[in-house]
Amino acid sequence: MDKIFIVANWKCNPLTLEEAKALLSGIKQRIKNIKKSAFNKIEIVICPPFIYLACFLKTGPYIKIGGQNCFWQNSVGAFTGEISPLMLKKMGLKYVIIGHSERRKLHKETDLLVNKKIKAALASGLRPIVCIASLAQLKNSLKGIDKTRDLIIAYEPLFAIGTGKACSVERAKKYRQKINFSQVLYGGSVKAENALDYVKKAGFQGLLIGGASLKDKEFAKIIKRFA
Ligand code: PEP
Repeated sequence: MDKIFIVANWKCNPLTLEEAKALLSGIKQRIKNIKKSAFNKIEIVICPPFIYLACFLKTGPYIKIGGQNCFWQNSVGAFTGEISPLMLKKMGLKYVIIGHSERRKLHKETDLLVNKKIKAALASGLRPIVCIASLAQLKNSLKGIDKTRDLIIAYEPLFAIGTGKACSVERAKKYRQKINFSQVLYGGSVKAENALDYVKKAGFQGLLIGGASLKDKEFAKIIKRFA
């Protein structure tokens, strides 16, 4: 049975390592009563800022760690400030978010660059979580990449990201039907009260969660909806 993905994007939060550790242990504490068998059907992935990654590698069996971005080349070298997907892989990570709308907007990442990053991440053995806000972005970002490759799409309508105005389930469902990939997440103002609908009613295979993943109680509540 395919798992439901619950992916936390902590973005540029929290401010200190101590707070990051406290948030992770708060989440772990709150989900510790979930039956172990429930984790056969849920994949929890937390994507903290890069500087906390090294301290987050021993999260226990039920939480995986992912990166929020990576370099577009599958190598190391003279690339100041970049993080190679190969480094993430060697560190033990399985997932990396690519093409988040904030990077597309603030760092002017184009579909072409996103496409290169996806290819580099795949070549490194990582599983990219590719964010798209439209079908055009889907088409252009995935150019030349086979649909059967081991990647996950995250549909995140711009108006819903960080606004508290989640996409209606009907509209999200229409988009889901047009995205011809087997694993597609919904992202945009997900909370415990709407989380289940995107999976059960709109047909998504999981969720990409920003704001609500920074509150241990709310994030654990979302996980419990699927347990
Ligand atoms: C996101 O940043 O990917 C996101 C979905 O944020 P939020 O849940 O806060 O809308």
